[in-house]
Amino acid sequence: MDFGFSPEEEAFRAEVRAFIADHLPQRSGQDQMDAEEGMKNLPALYKWNQDLHAKRWVGFNWPREVGGGGGTISEQMILKEEMARVKAPMLGLSYMGLAWVGPALIKYGTPAQQERHIGPILRGEIQWCTGYSEPGAGSDLAALQCKAVRDGDDYVVNGQKIWTSLAMWAQWMILLVRTDPQAPKHLGITCLLVPMQTPGITVKPIKEMNGGAMFAEVFFEDVRVPAANRLGAEGQGWEVTKDALANERSSIADVWALKHRLEAIRDLARRCRRRGRPAIEDAAIRQRIARMETQVEAMRLNGLRFVTKQLRGEPLGAETSINKLIRARIEIESGRLARDIEGSFGALARKSPHAVDDGRWQKVMLSWPPFVIGGGTPNIQKNVIAERLLGLPHDG
Ligand SMILES: Cc1cc2nc3c(=O)[nH]c(=O)nc-3n(C[C@H](O)[C@H](O)[C@H](O)COP(=O)(O)OP(=O)(O)OC[C@H]3O[C@@H](n4cnc5c(N)ncnc54)[C@H](O)[C@@H]3O)c2cc1C
Repeated sequence: MDFGFSPEEEAFRAEVRAFIADHLPQRSGQDQMDAEEGMKNLPALYKWNQDLHAKRWVGFNWPREVGGGGGTISEQMILKEEMARVKAPMLGLSYMGLAWVGPALIKYGTPAQQERHIGPILRGEIQWCTGYSEPGAGSDLAALQCKAVRDGDDYVVNGQKIWTSLAMWAQWMILLVRTDPQAPKHLGITCLLVPMQTPGITVKPIKEMNGGAMFAEVFFEDVRVPAANRLGAEGQGWEVTKDALANERSSIADVWALKHRLEAIRDLARRCRRRGRPAIEDAAIRQRIARMETQVEAMRLNGLRFVTKQLRGEPLGAETSINKLIRARIEIESGRLARDIEGSFGALARKSPHAVDDGRWQKVMLSWPPFVIGGGTPNIQKNVIAERLLGLPHDG
């Protein structure tokens, strides 16, 4: 197998590196553990986004006709890899807009919807949130009950969503509603684009165990949404969502984020003492670090396999669940490992004068849910791997 890049691709890598050297704002180098820190210098973050946008590197994989960069699979990987290598802020500011709203708009949106939303997403002017999960519909998303009834030129929405990340700040929501309760459950769902300021929407933040509040419950009471805001046809919502989520799945940036974290754990283990010696000399700690390093490398190689498949024009399917599952394990293990390296100091959180690294690792320990539960739990990934990759019999 040849993992090398062509001279053109290497020239592109050099271009990215030169851009980073010229434009990356100072103090932007925070990995996902410290996203909060990265948000402290907002003007620099916006300037960085403008510079990226001018290069067409925001929405780099989107077609040029809609304002994207039309980057090839290899170029996308190189861009993401080089950015993640130096811990640059993410490519674009509208996270969900770029991850799945934009791709869904490109495939299913009307020209008017594309015209209205794609530019603001690329420029980072609009934040989107995602109204899929409900109290009784998460892993089994197609069981959702939030309903919309057509009334003239509008849909009238009633019901509840939960775990809606960024709902407190987002201006728009991509929302799944049930429009046909009689149809088979996957076919009675419709996708609507909803301004969050619409009367009848109530957002109640949910406090997380790490002290933050990044997601919320969202209630809809007779919320009128113009039918012109429907994305795709009535009853096509499941298809729109499935396609949209498929754009979420590359692991190169994740691998680099985890490599940085591993380096930070090694550094911690050099500084902390365990049984009178630096923790890095402890056999049990060394073994756990080595296991994590092996898993990150497995993720990297799997990522290369995915890219190879894409380069051959083959669709990516269930195999991306492998990296999602590995990442979930590493997310949980890295917080626990850091706590064990810290020994008795591991019980001290941020604000304690004796907390190691200002309680950074305690925060990591409590911050795994987005990576572990968001986008599908480990049990669901295991089901996918068992049934679709290993061909094991379907349960029930
Ligand atoms: C940080 C975070 C951010 C999120 N952001 C959003 C968002 O912006 N928008 C949004 O719509 N949702 C969001 N979610 C919700 C997320 O998509 C759901 O939590 C997830 O799909 C799981 O659904 P659930 O919470 O209802 O758990 P459930 O589906 O009820 O699962 C509970 C447990 O049962 C297990 N289980 C369920 N079904 C099976 C099965 N068939 N086989 C084996 N085990 C099973 C699960 O693995 C889990 O352990 C977010 C979640 C988190 C943690």
